[in-house]
Amino acid sequence: MNTPKKTVLIILLIFAAMFNIWAQNFDYLRNKMVDEQLKTRDIKSEVVLKAMRTVPRHLFVADDIQKFAYTDRPLPIGLDQTISQPYIVAFMTQSLDPYPKMKVLEIGTGSGYQAAILAEIGCEVYTIEIFDDLAKNAKKVISKLKYKNVYIKSGNGYEGWQEHAPFDAIIVTAAPERIPEKLIEQLKEGGQMIIPVGQQHSVQSLILLTKIEGKIIEKELKSVKFVPMLEKK
Ligand code: SAH
Repeated sequence: MNTPKKTVLIILLIFAAMFNIWAQNFDYLRNKMVDEQLKTRDIKSEVVLKAMRTVPRHLFVADDIQKFAYTDRPLPIGLDQTISQPYIVAFMTQSLDPYPKMKVLEIGTGSGYQAAILAEIGCEVYTIEIFDDLAKNAKKVISKLKYKNVYIKSGNGYEGWQEHAPFDAIIVTAAPERIPEKLIEQLKEGGQMIIPVGQQHSVQSLILLTKIEGKIIEKELKSVKFVPMLEKK
């Protein structure tokens, strides 16, 4: 091999090695996130821990903040919206006791990360986002990651998604002031909904609701702070 060819080859190898180190770094950070932020708290579900170890959270945020993707906090995703802290995503997912083929409605697609976690577990995910641009972006990432079990639409979550109801579970990732009636209607008998409820821009209650024989049983799980569930765009 002549010298210029050798030089090009060496440069390519250096780039490949650097890329490899960079990609592994995210894998390392993701596992560290699971060990330090989830396992040390109350996340015990093996399926949830496995999904959190697998889904590349950094791909759901803008390039310039990817380095913060595995830190213990929410991150901006544009249009004044945020992707929840990893622990909250894991906690909400775990509280629904997800299993493969479970039919889940998510309100507030945002970046698509929560939907990807459910998809990784094998759930059939229907997710609604009020902002078209966020829905479009989420669709791109979800299809890049080749999840076939996520259906994203842009629309108002207060309406739910009647064509696909009833749902085994509903997860609401923006906070309304009251539990939307249509979502309760679209929940299957015996199904559960996890939802932050309360005033905008204040602390809300994360509620786990169960529908039993038409009755609603509510359990308050924690105090949380979510972006408001908007009445309209
Ligand atoms: N689950 C998301 C984060 C959600 S942030 C993730 O994993 O990234 C809350 C999202 O709810 C925002 O994207 C916001 O635009 C959306 N939202 C707010 N009000 C809504 C409504 N009425 N219907 C549907 N989506 C809504």
